[in-house]
Amino acid sequence: MRLTEVMEETIMQRRQFCRGALALGALSLAEFGPWQGISAFAREMDEFIRGPVVRDIPLQQLSPHVWMIYSPDGFPTPENQGMMCNLTFVDTSAGLVVLDTGASVQIGEMAIRQLARQFPGKKVVALFNSHYHGDHFLGNQAFVEAFGDLPIHAHPGTVEAIAGLQGNSWRTLMEKWTNQATLGTRVVVPNRPVQHGQEFRFGDVTLRIHHYGRAHTPSDICVQVLEDQLTHVGDVAMDRRIANMDDGSYVGTFKFYEALEREAPSSIWVPGHGHPGPDVLGWNRELFQGIYETCVAAVEAGRSMEAAKELVLQDPRVSSRARDTRGFETHIGKYVSLAYLEAEASAF
Ligand SMILES: [Zn+2]
Repeated sequence: MRLTEVMEETIMQRRQFCRGALALGALSLAEFGPWQGISAFAREMDEFIRGPVVRDIPLQQLSPHVWMIYSPDGFPTPENQGMMCNLTFVDTSAGLVVLDTGASVQIGEMAIRQLARQFPGKKVVALFNSHYHGDHFLGNQAFVEAFGDLPIHAHPGTVEAIAGLQGNSWRTLMEKWTNQATLGTRVVVPNRPVQHGQEFRFGDVTLRIHHYGRAHTPSDICVQVLEDQLTHVGDVAMDRRIANMDDGSYVGTFKFYEALEREAPSSIWVPGHGHPGPDVLGWNRELFQGIYETCVAAVEAGRSMEAAKELVLQDPRVSSRARDTRGFETHIGKYVSLAYLEAEASAF
């Protein structure tokens, strides 16, 4: 039986259970009074309606203090159950710190299983969410359930977005894209707004926050691990993947890279998607220059968006990346449209 069939059957069984539980819920309302009944019922439902366990992906070490669970896929499907984003961990003498928690409670739980194997008895002491896209924060719940009321750090704009529309809409979208494999996931909003330049000391390790305006979203943070010359960049830069740039800025991204290279010199850049390494910013910068600079030239020459798209596809900085870049076919059109609009806006 294929995985999707197993999942469909599981979901069917759960729906049948729910119909039964609804009747029981009505009973408990009568028995315990309305509020008690509703909250107990909601809790029971929440605990029962859960997508299946996510398969283990072992930790790999990137530097003396930093470990990662690498996600081979870049986009959510029913088969990968939303496993589309790397999870990064900092091993400090004061406990483990998690940089981005994955797209579901099940992914967070999978990560906790790997941590327990590698670091028996060691606790997670803090979480950081790089931005408000669901694959970077929907795993928060698993860590809070396992380790109690943790500090969850994020840019104030990210806190506001997750508490607002972005939180629930990402939760719902992830359920849809994975054919409900992420069911049971709740939005756990970051509770510690952070500022650019802020430093956190965890035992023998220091983390420094970097934010230089709009790049992938208006409120991305990058987390530098000072002792390791390594910086976690979230989705500000990706490796061999392009996607969601709806809230981002090309010019802002170029500025962000320049500032990062100056203020957080690193021998390893850790992206949310793709492999970490010394050239992640370089790879992404050249792709974006191929797109944006071509659009600027097209706008200046009075050419249409369609003409700009043709020119972008012919640009060697873009065409050389087409074959091994995940999401290229589906996203390049929208990427160019956004670049063209930004070029047009900046021309006035
Ligand atoms: Zn993102």
